Amino acid sequence: MDYKKLAELLFPNITKTIDYYENEVYPKRDLPEGAKVTRLAPSPTGFIHLGNLYGAFVDERLAHQSGGVFMLRIEDTDEKRKVEGSVELIISSLKHFGLKFDEGAGIDGEKGKYGPYFQSQRAEIYQCFVKHLVEIGRAYPCFCTEEELEELRKAQIAENVTTGYYGKWARDRNLTLEEVQERLNNNEEFVIRFRSEGTGEKNFDIDDAIRGKLTMPENFQDIVILKTNGIPTYHFAHVVDDHLMRVTHVVRGEEWLSTLPIHYELFKTLGWELPVYCHTAHLMKLDNGTKRKLSKRKDPELGLSYYMELGYHPEAVREYLLTILNSNYEEWRMANPSSSIDEFEFTLEKMSTSGALFDLDKLNNISKDVLLKIPAEEIYDFFLNWANEYKKDVAKLLSSHKEQVIKLLDVGREGNKPRKDLVYCEQILEFISYYFDECFEIVDSYPENINEEEAKKLLTAYLNTYDHRDDQSQWFEKIRVIATENGYAAKPKDYKKNPDMYKGHVGEVSTVIRIALMGRAVSPDLWELQQIMGEEKVRRRIENAINK
Ligand code: GLU
Repeated sequence: MDYKKLAELLFPNITKTIDYYENEVYPKRDLPEGAKVTRLAPSPTGFIHLGNLYGAFVDERLAHQSGGVFMLRIEDTDEKRKVEGSVELIISSLKHFGLKFDEGAGIDGEKGKYGPYFQSQRAEIYQCFVKHLVEIGRAYPCFCTEEELEELRKAQIAENVTTGYYGKWARDRNLTLEEVQERLNNNEEFVIRFRSEGTGEKNFDIDDAIRGKLTMPENFQDIVILKTNGIPTYHFAHVVDDHLMRVTHVVRGEEWLSTLPIHYELFKTLGWELPVYCHTAHLMKLDNGTKRKLSKRKDPELGLSYYMELGYHPEAVREYLLTILNSNYEEWRMANPSSSIDEFEFTLEKMSTSGALFDLDKLNNISKDVLLKIPAEEIYDFFLNWANEYKKDVAKLLSSHKEQVIKLLDVGREGNKPRKDLVYCEQILEFISYYFDECFEIVDSYPENINEEEAKKLLTAYLNTYDHRDDQSQWFEKIRVIATENGYAAKPKDYKKNPDMYKGHVGEVSTVIRIALMGRAVSPDLWELQQIMGEEKVRRRIENAINK
């Protein structure tokens, strides 16, 4: 068979050579020794998830720790899955979490010399390399229809052999030039398949930077590399791109491990050096005691939009992801509580291979610690930005009460046992909402031993003695007096000792005041909150509770 002729027949319009791409368009990068080139290669499906972010952190760290390049390549070869606005979503979401690309697809166009960075714009390049494979006898056209492939599958199942297009089952593997010509004349649709030389009987070894040495069965399937529309499959496109873009490390999910033998054979056939593959473990969660993969359908926390909409601080998410990315991160953080996260030396060896356990409670705990280190003014700015994006009416309130909101965010955060009330914006809003008359509502009820009438009596006494200028101890002393005058123990422990002697204790009297002022039974220091609320609001709320 004259493969050159076959190649000309199939790709008459492809006139460039592989050397042209190899040497003129995409020469080797001029980078320092050891610099890593990584890429995030999402498909623009409109859904960007935690797995993307998780992988992106790995890519980013590997590149930037080594003085290399971190790029964004959009894998948009599947028309059916493309969603308008996805690229903007990917870029803005990753930027939100502190990840910036050095090269690749961007909102205002592309950056870098190795583009185009959209696979859909690289058809001619892929076709040139497919043509080359045809020329060397390692690819061929296949005219099988969907129905014929389905028949083939059934026959293989009936014979109890592996399904697929390979060996004696590969009908069009040995078509003559004349046969091909005839089918082309008939305008029959075709794909291009890779001609595998594997038999499936041998194994090969490959080093995965996360998993160590892997022994895998060689590929023997003649997989499709170019679809009927002239667009490549993922298997082929990523091999060509990662080679030409001079990617050194491919970080991707473990779902790609099973097709690694295909990629291995493609790289070898093209005579190219393999990138270092790094297959990350799935993100898992505990569901009723069993570990399972996070699922798009069941777990809203898989989508990055979840964290953005709830207003998690990006530093908290980043900090948390590092704890699941590297097993020694938490230890490092304990020893270096105030260091920048970028000072931590991330390594692939310390990554989990058995499924990284994702735990929202842990994220929340980490978030509390992270927010504690951020000055209240900065939290306010972040909070306001979030509100501007997701809750415009709240943004107005926050802007018009800036000074008080900053104080509210800061209550009880100093000292050696600081409060850790703040977790994420939606929760913070809930936490301080009582302050705004527009949001104020009584959510808790008075303690069981205090009825409405009794509460009004206590609140009246409180209002009568209230002096906004009292310091904290003067103020509390007055509450003690109100408590004892009304038959409550001045200290909870007195009440515990002799419960029959009292109606209750001072803590319950404070709870009544707290409910009248904040609508809830639990809050940070009451005196401090009153100082922030101001005298007018304090008196008005107490009066409202009395006149209810
Ligand atoms: N486009 C593939 C995906 O979204 C990328 C896999 C890879 O990084 O090579 O899963």
